[in-house]
Amino acid sequence: MKIAILPGDGIGPEITKQAVNVLNALGERFEMEEAPVGGAGYAAHGHPLPEGTLKLAKEADAVLFGAVGDFKYDTLERALRPEQAILGLRKELGLFGNLRPAILYPELAGASTLKPEVVSGLDILIVRELTGDIYFGKPRGVRECPDGPFKGEREGFDTMRYAESEIRRIAHVAFQAARKRSKRVTSVDKANVLETFQFWRDIVTDVHKEYADVELDHMYVDNAAMQLVRAPKKFDVIVTGNMFGDILSDCAAMLTGSIGMLPSASLDANNKGLHEPSHGSAPDIAGKGIANPLATILSAAMMLRYSLGKAEQADRIESAVKTVLAQGLRTPDIYEPGTSKVGTEDMGAAVVAALR
Ligand code: NAD
Repeated sequence: MKIAILPGDGIGPEITKQAVNVLNALGERFEMEEAPVGGAGYAAHGHPLPEGTLKLAKEADAVLFGAVGDFKYDTLERALRPEQAILGLRKELGLFGNLRPAILYPELAGASTLKPEVVSGLDILIVRELTGDIYFGKPRGVRECPDGPFKGEREGFDTMRYAESEIRRIAHVAFQAARKRSKRVTSVDKANVLETFQFWRDIVTDVHKEYADVELDHMYVDNAAMQLVRAPKKFDVIVTGNMFGDILSDCAAMLTGSIGMLPSASLDANNKGLHEPSHGSAPDIAGKGIANPLATILSAAMMLRYSLGKAEQADRIESAVKTVLAQGLRTPDIYEPGTSKVGTEDMGAAVVAALR
């Protein structure tokens, strides 16, 4: 099996290295090939998603991605900025389904800003549609306002849209994921205001007819944001569009105390995917050896489970992560008095030791 390793920028190379060490410790034979992406891609080949990197990602059975972005590239034209690599990979690989689990390990209940009784034992899965919605809808741009009270002024505009098949395929992903969990799906929309999301609600309801064993409810996005903070454990699987999912998944991330703990998987129709931590390249701590590598290590576990059909090996990694947390090892982002503060390398090595 071939895995494309794309470390990227900032803390990307540090955390990816630890995930590669963990994969190597499993005793499986993986072919791993590394390529530059994001700012590193631009520096090496003048483009955030160099041709060779895209070719490798397409050929591989799965992609393990670190993170991209650095403020020093903020002045580049948009098409050349590091973040374009992620959008390009999603588009080129047809990665429409983003799975983001938010799990609060009991040992980290104190790291959340919410009361431990509200979040302890939290285990939810956000299924975010990734290639449609207002982020990709056309037309978009800045134009002269054609009518209404602001006629003649400049206005910025975007287009929110979803095709029926796009909604159907992400709804299937959510219902199938729910079957492996508590069999409950909450579809989050804004059907009371937006035509796109009334349509979304109608289609999700229709797809649900094929999943009589799964419970479905619908919730407006503003209420969902409130409930995520008020009573997050009420949720099991949340399915939503690209923009609402972007916002809600970061909110859910913070319920767990640190974004450094949260993996993600972006899958195509055949479960080939790109697996990456939910956080960015954290330029503020890059090179300091203090980044939490667990989100990336857990992303490697998701890669094994969803893209490479190796659920047992994924379980092994997840148990090893639980073991190191139970041992009291903490990177600074999840540190609490009474635990042992370790750096990126030591945390990675502890996971490898727990695996063995
Ligand atoms: P960020 O997620 O990089 O960092 C937010 C905060 O969380 C920072 O204080 C950072 O130090 C901390 N943090 C993040 N990951 C951590 C880890 N593993 N361990 C410990 N602390 C961690 O978000 P940002 O600062 O808004 O963005 C920085 C850069 O990352 C920007 O260029 C942005 O565009 C990019 N970005 C990339 C991705 C991606 O590659 N998928 C996602 C989000 C942001």
